[in-house]
Amino acid sequence: MPDGTESESRKLLRRLRDLMAEEAAGQERLDRIVHLTADSTGTEVCSIYLFRDEDTLELCATEGLKPEAVHQTRMRIGEGLVGRVARAGVIVNTANAPQAHGFRYMPETGEEIYSSFLGVPIQRLGEMLGVLVVQSKEAREFTADEVYALEVVAMVLAEMTELGAFVGEGAAMSARHTQPHLIRGITGQEGAAEGHVWLHEPRVVVTNPIADDPQRELERLNEAVEKLRIGVDELLEGARGGDSEQMEVLEAYRMFANSRSWMRRMEEDISRGLSAEAAVEKEQSIARARLSQVPDAYLRERLHDLDDLSNRLLRILTGQGSTTGAEMPDDPILVARNIGPGELLEYGRKLKGVVLEEGSVGSHAAIVARALAIPLVLQAERIATEAMNGNHIMVDGDQGIVHLRPDDNVVTAFRDKMAMLHKAQERYVSLRDKPARTRCGKVISLHMNAGLMADLPSLEGSGAEGVGLFRTELQFLIRNKMPKRTELARIYSGVLDAAKGKRVVFRTLDIGSDKVLPYMKPNDEPNPALGWRAIRVALDRPGMMRMQLQALLRAANGRPLTVMFPFIAQYSEFLKARAEMAKALERESILGHALPERLEVGAMLETPSLAFAPDAFFRKVEFLSIGGNDLKQFFFAADRENERVRRRYDTLNTSFLTLIEMIVKRCEATGTHLSFCGEDAGRPIEAVCLAAMGLRTLSMRPASIGPVKHLMRRTDLDQLRKVIDTARDDGAETVRPEVMEYLRKLSP
Ligand code: PEP
Ligand code: MG
Repeated sequence: MPDGTESESRKLLRRLRDLMAEEAAGQERLDRIVHLTADSTGTEVCSIYLFRDEDTLELCATEGLKPEAVHQTRMRIGEGLVGRVARAGVIVNTANAPQAHGFRYMPETGEEIYSSFLGVPIQRLGEMLGVLVVQSKEAREFTADEVYALEVVAMVLAEMTELGAFVGEGAAMSARHTQPHLIRGITGQEGAAEGHVWLHEPRVVVTNPIADDPQRELERLNEAVEKLRIGVDELLEGARGGDSEQMEVLEAYRMFANSRSWMRRMEEDISRGLSAEAAVEKEQSIARARLSQVPDAYLRERLHDLDDLSNRLLRILTGQGSTTGAEMPDDPILVARNIGPGELLEYGRKLKGVVLEEGSVGSHAAIVARALAIPLVLQAERIATEAMNGNHIMVDGDQGIVHLRPDDNVVTAFRDKMAMLHKAQERYVSLRDKPARTRCGKVISLHMNAGLMADLPSLEGSGAEGVGLFRTELQFLIRNKMPKRTELARIYSGVLDAAKGKRVVFRTLDIGSDKVLPYMKPNDEPNPALGWRAIRVALDRPGMMRMQLQALLRAANGRPLTVMFPFIAQYSEFLKARAEMAKALERESILGHALPERLEVGAMLETPSLAFAPDAFFRKVEFLSIGGNDLKQFFFAADRENERVRRRYDTLNTSFLTLIEMIVKRCEATGTHLSFCGEDAGRPIEAVCLAAMGLRTLSMRPASIGPVKHLMRRTDLDQLRKVIDTARDDGAETVRPEVMEYLRKLSP
């Protein structure tokens, strides 16, 4: 690049910066910018077009076109050359505009006398804000350096908008961030919430896009990149031997952090007058723009990595951490691209809702949100870019929908829905201390599922009789290091304290399949759900289970203790696990520790094979809990994680109900206590049918206890059982239609 041009663009930027320091604001500031740009680039016309709404651009300031056209001339996205720039995000550079493809003449502007046209998009981090145009009478194409200079002005303009530099009439540019917006994601946790946006990682605000000491800026960039590299190397060191996906991301970070071409492009931008921050952001914008055009999922992931890395670099340069000093609203709805389980736990119950751009139903953040009973929507596209701190937001966790800056109609409808839910909730609260006694006089015992300390407050509020399933692996999953025995003992003891004597069924570690510990080497198994998981791992590598059993015994410290082993597929597995418990008891007794006043040891029935185990097993095991999620997936051979098949087979399928009936009968014959703790226990219709098949104990999410109890109290199980039997005898595949018909006729 010739020296002369370099100093030209720098001169332009310096003038722009001086202008920004002046008193003017809003329209006046826009007017001065177009004047200055036309003057510096030697063109007769300079205009700024900004988005008025999603698809309309408005002429907001001009030097050279008729002043009366300002705020009058509008065009739709894609219309004319300006619209083309806005739609495709491309630069249009032509010596003969009227001849150019897509040209549309706007008579009110008086632009017919100008031949050459250069339009560049005004965009920030992949978001289109408007178009900056210069035009001149002389028919010529603009040089690469002129294009560059205009791009830089457009970038500074975009940055100013972010700072709220335009108010009043020029505010069209920020209109996009004031429009109502509906985003469809997927359900992570049911429930509805209204509140205000709290960005987990607010965008870094670049306050100094222009700098006049390139040498200093280069030094700043180099220092920051050095820090970034050291940070990435440390992360890599810490993650070695861990999760391969995480390693892949970190390797990509390292590759980008050491990329010469990335550095060169940023250095070039700085030498043209940008600050180090602006140079980083310019690269980030380009990557974001590419992101939306790349069809390949792997490449998109890598561009995401580059985006993350740019954010890290910006944070180093600006010193802005995740806090910007903004105050958290009273009713915060957390918005983020993604969030770790630990961070989410730290926010805790003060959040009214959570919306994530990424994440999956089985992700750890989703598990925590469920434990905290916070409505959660996942895969809400672009939410972290669209939402601004403090925006009004409504989260519909049932439908997986987010209303950002909702209009009055949506607000009214949503509030109606919330009121209805609230009313139902009140009804459930009034049932809290009443038993789930059916119309035919049977009492069903309702317990809750838990996995974190954060769940325990629900024990009292939900009216659960105890914790029917405490998934101990969650404590392991949310950490990045294996917890120590003393730490576990402290947690389990806290759980027993919080339960205040109510029964808590601790399930020993159930890892493998979908539950991969971040600090354990993942196994490449062709079918992880059928692989080395749960009790199979525990029996092959007993160290971890021994440590856990010891922690449980210490936590009980003489109090009653209930433990169950997951995924027992045959009798001998239970015997081996039970022997481990016996050894642990012996050790504790030798060490002089108090032994539990009463110890119950049970198993989960999650594979069809166990339903056919010998009677001896049923007599030996003290209790059984049906893990319906796994049992159903193995019974129907339909992966519970696979969206295509997971809903294919109905829980009310007669074959499955017959299996349940058989398990109930076998337990009755041997006097073995039986419960059901899969997700179906928390679905009212499924729950009453399970009860009709003979189950007397159900364990579910705390939020389901009210709805299940409500329906249970209205149902006559004997009648329902007749309905089921008749449908089954008639050869029905599923009894759902008949059951629904029966339930519809129930009195309220
Ligand atoms: C089940 O399989 O039904 C169960 C309760 O265990 P998890 O969902 O943790 O596998
Ligand atoms: Mg299971």
